[in-house]
Amino acid sequence: MAEKYDLIVLGSGPGGYVAAIRGAQLGLKVAIVERELLGGICLNWGCIPTKALLRSAEILHYAQHAKDYGLKIAGEIEADLDAVVKRSRGVAKQLNQGVTHLMKKNKIAVHMGEGTLTGPTTLTVKGEKGEEKLTAKHIIVAPGARARDLPFAKAEGKRIWNYRPADDARRKSPKKPLGSRHRGPSESSLPSFDNEIRAAKETLAQNGPPGSCRGKKKQGAPRFPGKNRTRQGLEVS
Ligand SMILES: Cc1cc2nc3c(=O)[nH]c(=O)nc-3n(C[C@H](O)[C@H](O)[C@H](O)COP(=O)(O)OP(=O)(O)OC[C@H]3O[C@@H](n4cnc5c(N)ncnc54)[C@H](O)[C@@H]3O)c2cc1C
Repeated sequence: MAEKYDLIVLGSGPGGYVAAIRGAQLGLKVAIVERELLGGICLNWGCIPTKALLRSAEILHYAQHAKDYGLKIAGEIEADLDAVVKRSRGVAKQLNQGVTHLMKKNKIAVHMGEGTLTGPTTLTVKGEKGEEKLTAKHIIVAPGARARDLPFAKAEGKRIWNYRPADDARRKSPKKPLGSRHRGPSESSLPSFDNEIRAAKETLAQNGPPGSCRGKKKQGAPRFPGKNRTRQGLEVS
């Protein structure tokens, strides 16, 4: 027998879990389907953990330049990469647990597993418990986006990498990686983290000249932070 809901949300990132909560607040019987971690990319791998990594890099940078601020720090200051990544994973875990709590608080049923739409009002979830069939009057599809490989330059995790290896202490830093395939300031921040924490020589590749996101600067488009990055010791090419 299929479990019946008023609303099913497929994907529990910021797009999905907020919609699920709002549905529950409006009195709907709501379920959320997630194949990996509640909170999606933003809370588990993207916005939050990368900022935790960058914070460690920032504090290391300040400590190394303490003299500039009239401070003396005795002894060698070095980064413990395992501890830095552990802290970042801890921050992500806290938020993941926070979303779990919000689901419980709002009486939203959580179905962990790979969701597949089988019709306009039906969905199957393949998870550890086996296959579950769900139906709902309304289904919101919020599966997010994934980094895509360029056919001629795959993110093989050595010279070119995407965001996941950044939060993995096991990754060995190459001597001169070609930065990250960035979409915006967040992802282009990752090489600066590497540069600072691992004392690795990093080159940040960009699609246009320094100071622009894609060559021509459109009104309202985010500026590529080339100047900032070169100040941090990165090469921008
Ligand atoms: C490195 C990095 C840094 C970023 N920094 C920022 C930032 O500072 N500020 C900012 O605003 N944005 C940032 N972003 C972007 C932000 O992460 C995304 O905009 C946001 O996560 C999108 O939310 P979403 O809910 O649409 O999708 P997601 O967060 O991707 O969530 C989708 C969820 O759906 C699940 N899912 C997908 N398909 C299925 C399926 N078939 N069955 C079950 N579950 C499924 C996935 O497992 C995932 O958990 C960053 C992204 C990255 C990669």
